[in-house]
Parts: sequence; C-alpha cells; structure tokens
Amino acid sequence: MTSLPRMAGPLVDSFGRTVRDLRVSVTDRCNFRCSYCMPEEGMQWMPRDDLLTYEELARVARVCVERFGFDGVRITGGEPTVRAHLPVLVGMLAALDVDVAMTTNGATLPLLADDLRRAGLRRVNISCDSLRRDRFAAITRRDALPQVLEGIDAALAAGFDPVKVNVVTMRGVNDDEAVDFAAFGRERGVVVRFIEFMPLDADGAWSMEKVVPAAETVAAVDAVFPLEPVAHGPEPATRWRYRDGGGEIGAIASVTQPFCDNCDRVRLTADGQFRTCLFATDELDLRALLRSGATDDELAGALAAAVGAKWAGHRIGQVTFVRPARSMSQIGG
Ligand code: SF4
Repeated sequence: MTSLPRMAGPLVDSFGRTVRDLRVSVTDRCNFRCSYCMPEEGMQWMPRDDLLTYEELARVARVCVERFGFDGVRITGGEPTVRAHLPVLVGMLAALDVDVAMTTNGATLPLLADDLRRAGLRRVNISCDSLRRDRFAAITRRDALPQVLEGIDAALAAGFDPVKVNVVTMRGVNDDEAVDFAAFGRERGVVVRFIEFMPLDADGAWSMEKVVPAAETVAAVDAVFPLEPVAHGPEPATRWRYRDGGGEIGAIASVTQPFCDNCDRVRLTADGQFRTCLFATDELDLRALLRSGATDDELAGALAAAVGAKWAGHRIGQVTFVRPARSMSQIGG
C-alpha cells in the first residue's frame, strides 16, 4: 500500500461533525441474557482468534488519539468484565491520557471496581432496568439484582464519579418505575439515565409501540421531583437537575429526538470491525489491516476514509431504515 502523508488533526465528517470518542467492544459475550438484547441460549459467540487482542485494541485507540485528537474511549461489550484481565486494557488506554469510561451490567463490580479504578478507569455506566427483583430476573434472565446494587455501591466506594445508571425504558415492561429510579438515584447519589428502546435486539421484537418517549419519562419524574434543564455538549443524553438540588437525571431519546447532528462517536467491534454509526450497515475490516502489517499511517488513512463516508444518522422510523446485521451485544453500547 502506498505510504500516506502523516495524518494529524481533527477527524471531521462530511457533515462537519468532529469525531473524538471511540467505543471499543472487548467481547460479544455476557453473563446476562437480557430479553431485549439476546436469546436465552445466548448467541453464536465470535471465535476467540477473531477477537482483537488488547494490544490491537489499544493500538487503534492510540492512532485515534495521536493522529486525530480523540479525547474519550469507552469500553463496552457484550459485558466487558467477562473478558479476562480487563484492568490491563484499562491501563493501556489510560496511558493515552484520555477519559476512559466503561458500560457494564455491574454484577462483577464488587470484585473488580477497585482494580479498574486503580488501572485508570474514570467513569462507569451501570445498566439496570428494574429495581424489582422478580422483574429484573424476568428482563435479564438472571436473578442478579442484589449483585448489581452491590456493584453500584462498589463503584461509588471505589471513587468513580459520576456513577451513572442506564435504564432502557420499555412500554409495559418497566415504564412504571421512572419515579422509583429517580428516588433511587437521589438516595444513592447516582445519575439515572433513561434510554429509549432501540431496534438492536437479536430477535427482532422491537417495535415503535414499545418505545417510551424520553420526554414522557422526564415528565413523570418532574411531576414528583421538579426538574430544570441543564445545558449539555455533544454527549447523547439531555440532562436535567432537580430543582431542590437532589442531583441529576439524563434522557437518551435516540428514537424520538435523534441527536445524530451532534454525533462525535465511532465504534470498534470486538472482532475488529470499524463502525461509524451504531446503526451502520457497512463496516471497515480493521482487523485485516492490523494483521497484515499496516502502518499507523495506513490505519489512520483508512479511519479517515471511513469517517469521510459516515452517513447523516440513523433512519429509525423511516421506510429507508435497515436494521444492522449485528445485535447490540455484537456492536457495544
Ligand atoms: S445513531 Fe449513529 S449517527 Fe446517530 S448518534 Fe448514534 S452513532 Fe451517531
């Protein structure tokens, strides 16, 4: 491949959006079986040899940081903590002096929180879709609510700040728990973020009828705990603070109020495919480049070309919408 000029400077797509946040999925495996994500029996797992090594993952992140000034890396899965020696990867990423965050189901945090914190992890988002043990077990197909609540406490005790709790709100499933979650967040000092249900489930059960508009959830909370809006940047969540100073909540209205105009994110799947959008229907095979001796210049060139072709945004609800071939557990949040 011809040697490319040394690429440096912000990575801007054809819509003028600067990409600065890399989401890296480290595994497609998970210790839960959330009904809106994967079937009870699990998925056809990616062969281990197809998974990028920590060195390969860290190299892609390094090129993004060094060449394009990325300032954030988020570790996702599947469930990232089921991959062995995760603090080692955190250490590699933290060495790039960027904001390293992680999205997890929290169940293993009682064991791992301190090690991850010491390795340089700065923030965690913990997924928890119900505070009712039976309902939690029905959604995740695991009776693990006590471990997740213990995981939230372990994250707070380890000094993660903020600790965010992500709730995927689904009509007729957990949409009656918005105020309970708000009370929980106020009591524990965590930021609860309500996320609209997106069409990334493995069995195609998603439908618009199951989507609870974030505005509806925020209104339900506001009726009990009055809120006021907080200005926010390119991050997906709209933020609200309690008027009585009791903390904040967030709302991610990916379906009803898309925020693609401000999108600053790209993704790397556990098997080394580069995606410029969560809902992308095409990918760049970075693993092939990494394993065929590509230079940093060549990697940077390929990333820039892919971002240059990034589309305006998802088309959920439009006739042109095509579900990605991968489910959420194979892409990463
Ligand atoms: S749907 Fe795609 S373009 Fe829109 S915010 Fe998400 S990742 Fe960005």
